[in-house]
Amino acid sequence: MSEQLATLTPQRNPSGLSLRRVSKAFGAVQVIHDVDLEIEGGEFVVFVGPSGCGKSTLLRLIAGLEEVTSGDVMIAGTDVTDEDPSDRGIAMVFQTYALYPHMSVEQNMGFGLKVAGRSKAEVESKVRHAAEILKLTDYLDRRPGQLSGGQRQRVAIGRAIVRDPEIFLFDEPLSNLDAELRVGMRIEIARLHRELGNTMIYVTHDQTEAMTLADKIVVLRDGYIEQVGSPAALYDDPDNVFVGGFIGSPK
Ligand code: ADP
Ligand code: MG
Repeated sequence: MSEQLATLTPQRNPSGLSLRRVSKAFGAVQVIHDVDLEIEGGEFVVFVGPSGCGKSTLLRLIAGLEEVTSGDVMIAGTDVTDEDPSDRGIAMVFQTYALYPHMSVEQNMGFGLKVAGRSKAEVESKVRHAAEILKLTDYLDRRPGQLSGGQRQRVAIGRAIVRDPEIFLFDEPLSNLDAELRVGMRIEIARLHRELGNTMIYVTHDQTEAMTLADKIVVLRDGYIEQVGSPAALYDDPDNVFVGGFIGSPK
């Protein structure tokens, strides 16, 4: 363990998650079809699939940012289908970072906690801690416009970390970064998962990210799950040509 992370308390018993016949329609158009999925506590799960197949929608249903049309979302064995996003123990990191341009890095990271009524001392200590983990300590006074793309993405991740979520959701967090930065951030995210021990669900259409980060890959197509398995299992034994093609398997 790096010294920087020595003070982190890894999740001892991270929450798992299950989806039971989850469907979602927007108007007459059904975009998620009867999805059943079991995610163990502490697993790193990657959703892959073509653009428009429902990856973001599925994350938003898990987070509670969209309501399911039918089915149940269970977190740590509890049905949270009707619970507000803020009560689900989930933090989501978006592709677009969604930072407040007029606020400093420190304010951006602490804003959610402040709004939730946490004390100034608690907000400060959580933000400092997250900044250390993410190597942002020297940038706390800067505004997002004065940061590189990689640093902005770190701030977005920091904003999730300060909330001590049980489950992290990442929606293509690195797709706006150039290739070199992407590799660096990918390694950082893998390290975060190792050190924090949380359940993480990560959407990408980058094959390398999927293969290197995932304990388990979920391949989606048109709102259905095509196959679920470890990177090695999907690579060695894809159920069909679609999965094989997506994973880059020679089969
Ligand atoms: P992905 O993230 O895999 O690219 P999305 O989950 O964003 O896919 O979208 C899945 C499908 O749902 C797409 O056909 C998209 O157009 C549709 N969709 C997503 N959000 C909405 C919405 N708020 N209203 C209507 N249709 C939507
Ligand atoms: Mg998406």
